[in-house]
Amino acid sequence: MKYTDAHCHIFSAPAGNITGQVCNATTAADWGKLVQNADDRTHVCIGIHPWYIDSVTPDWADCMREILLSNPQIMVGEIGIDKYHPDIDRQIEFFAQQIEIAIEMNRPTHLHCVGAWDKVLHILKGHGPRIPIIAHAFGGNTAIMTALAEYNTYFSYGMRGDHIADTAKIAPVDKILVESDSDTSTAQAEILATATREIAKLRGCDVRELNEQINKNFTGVINYAG
Ligand SMILES: [Zn+2]
Repeated sequence: MKYTDAHCHIFSAPAGNITGQVCNATTAADWGKLVQNADDRTHVCIGIHPWYIDSVTPDWADCMREILLSNPQIMVGEIGIDKYHPDIDRQIEFFAQQIEIAIEMNRPTHLHCVGAWDKVLHILKGHGPRIPIIAHAFGGNTAIMTALAEYNTYFSYGMRGDHIADTAKIAPVDKILVESDSDTSTAQAEILATATREIAKLRGCDVRELNEQINKNFTGVINYAG
């Protein structure tokens, strides 16, 4: 089967049976390299990850806008809020600022959220974005899934040890994605195959049909970005 990887940090071409990968930045130092790597199979996001907000230079937002303006296919990510990392107030500021840029540029946005859904939802509510939001490694509960569904959210699942988050069972089928979150292509295909198989098992559905739908969902996100 052919797979798509909705969230990774790979700086090289994907494995052979992977038809598309979304490579996320964590710091501004990644942006130039990622933009250079973009091609038919490698789709790219630029952003500041909540763990690395201290790495920025004062002109980061202007640089981000400039790159997005001249590259209409480039998305925003990964951005978000992580309760296990310091300075939540500053994380909130960065997230809000980057979401604003994403909405202004009309780009899909790849979200990292751990234990801070109330804060993320509060900011989304303020903006009411219709851009696709890709909730990477989605670990929220059913109530959070329902709240996020109002914001054109895709739910991206990877393996957590040997299992998949329970919500993969009830996620809207046209919003399910799979991801490796890997920084090397070595195990990429295997992680995607296992995740797809485990989601199909949870949902009691045909794995090939699910895989096709996941690839279609991936294409929807990529095509939105131009
Ligand atoms: Zn990541």
